[in-house]
Amino acid sequence: MTDFSGEIALSRAFVVQRTELRFPKPSIPVRVRARAPDPERIKRKLAMDSHMHLDRFPREERTAVLERAWSVGIKVLVTVATSFSGVDELWALANANKGKVYHSVGAHPTELDDAVPVEAEVIGAVERTGPVAIGETGFDYFSLPRGLGAARAVSDVQREAFLLQARVAKEVGLPLIIHCREKERTKRDAWNALLWALKRVQFPMERALLHCFDYGHEELIRWQGEGAYVSFSGSVTRKSHEEAQKALQCTKTDRFLLETDAPFLLPEPLRTTAPETVCEPSHMLYTASFVSWLLAMEQEDVLGLSLENGCRFFGLGR
Ligand SMILES: [Zn+2]
Repeated sequence: MTDFSGEIALSRAFVVQRTELRFPKPSIPVRVRARAPDPERIKRKLAMDSHMHLDRFPREERTAVLERAWSVGIKVLVTVATSFSGVDELWALANANKGKVYHSVGAHPTELDDAVPVEAEVIGAVERTGPVAIGETGFDYFSLPRGLGAARAVSDVQREAFLLQARVAKEVGLPLIIHCREKERTKRDAWNALLWALKRVQFPMERALLHCFDYGHEELIRWQGEGAYVSFSGSVTRKSHEEAQKALQCTKTDRFLLETDAPFLLPEPLRTTAPETVCEPSHMLYTASFVSWLLAMEQEDVLGLSLENGCRFFGLGR
């Protein structure tokens, strides 16, 4: 694996000062707007897109997408699996971009086809391809069918698939990338199912990452209080996601990552000004700009911290 220790050392002095710092109770400006990244400062950026889906881009566009990511200072990205059948393609992409692209192995809760994966399949994919994480796995209640019985059946499969993947991750010593989405954003049903399942497996929380964090500060403080990680995507830049913005202001600086979830979740202001744009890793700088604004930190420091945290979480650079 690539050695990032030199790059990480650059931000380490800063990390030591900031690690224990907790931000005061949230008090959020009414209208926050992401700034476009400043090209003058791009050269100094060292960043990780901790969650994207390279296989969702057309084949002929992938090289250009990666080139644009490297050109804005992204050093490493994780292309996250959504199904076991797609793992070999991700593995090939990681192999073709060694030290820069890493992959995970897992099945997204909405891609289970009403069937719990078989343990041998999960372990086989892990042994064959050497991923940096298991996932994304979790609970997606947004996609549940209408009708109590049908919804119950699907959520049962999601739970069993999650329990299996979490157990394997614990067994083989890999971190876990978690997806958790409610039917409505004010609800906490998927969240409660997730907490229950993690407890059931006695999963080591410092190896758990809740991606695209979209809950409030109470959930964030509880989650990070157990040692677990969160990552923020472009969704946090949206005006309607004030709860997550408040949560962000409470984040522990050694427990947050940044991601794009590309090709999904285009950040502001692109989402408003150029809504036809396909989200790609280079757009993470818009999210970083917004996050640095909310945390009153330099953008380079936000990116450096999230790279350091990501390398620690995924076990890179050791
Ligand atoms: Zn994703």
